[in-house]
Amino acid sequence: MKGLIEKENGEMWLEEFEDNGFKVSYKIKEILYTAQSQYQEISILDSEIFGKILVLDGIVQTTSMDGHIYNEMISHIPICFHHKPKNVLVIGGGDQGVTQELCKYPFIENIDLVEIDALVIDSCKTHLKEIAGEESDQRVRFHYEDGAEFVKEKKNVYDVIIVDSSDPIGPAEILFQYDFYKDIYESLKEDGLMVCQSQSPIFHMDVLKQSFQNIQKLFPYTSLYTAVIPTYPGGLWSFALGAKKEFKLKKDLLAKNTKYINAKMLKASFKLPQFLKQEIQG
Ligand code: SAM
Repeated sequence: MKGLIEKENGEMWLEEFEDNGFKVSYKIKEILYTAQSQYQEISILDSEIFGKILVLDGIVQTTSMDGHIYNEMISHIPICFHHKPKNVLVIGGGDQGVTQELCKYPFIENIDLVEIDALVIDSCKTHLKEIAGEESDQRVRFHYEDGAEFVKEKKNVYDVIIVDSSDPIGPAEILFQYDFYKDIYESLKEDGLMVCQSQSPIFHMDVLKQSFQNIQKLFPYTSLYTAVIPTYPGGLWSFALGAKKEFKLKKDLLAKNTKYINAKMLKASFKLPQFLKQEIQG
């Protein structure tokens, strides 16, 4: 398995190598699942501190310890900035943490989940129920295809689109490109809005700026917000939001059963550190 090291004393460690000359190590208790799909190596591990971990090609995607922070921040914020969305699209998101959060809203009628790799969905349903959930919700429709191809065919369909992608390498590279955001713009209804994870403000400023500037070229209303997610490099993580109409916070919409986000954080998460404000304002 990529990144898994067995020490002389028998301990197993997952070493995740970052681009920028540092690595993060997780002590592993057990390999629960590992397989090679058409797209990537998929592993689900039980770790000492972070609970269960989903790893794709040696890169940690989510954990049962802090996955809820990311999943809540990328889901509840766009929902509370829209006027009761009915039709939502999630691109990527194979661990199903985002769809679990969306299912907390009774007014959402349909959730299309477009994940390129069916094996990520199946393995998380079996081995990562802490994130994927125990039960299926009839409103979630699974599509196993490239999200960039899927949106090309859809015009004026969705209220909210959430891009829950892996890092911009391999099949996810296209999910950070201008043409993809343009198709997203056209897939949204006239009062629609989108959000994507836009990587680390500490380590991936180039990707962050590229995503945000692409969104700014298309959407009249844009904003960036952050959250601290321990398993992502540097901790601080960013999300870019683009809306066709001015978005107004409706904090009463926020689902009651959240673990991380609350009504005050809905607004506070848009307060940016000085260096990040300066970078995105140019
Ligand atoms: N929350 C995680 C993070 O920020 O690292 C990512 C969640 S989820 C596991 C990302 C998913 O995006 C993966 O399962 C991957 O297979 C999927 N994916 C990558 N490229 C894709 C594409 N072009 N279309 C649809 N899904 C894609």
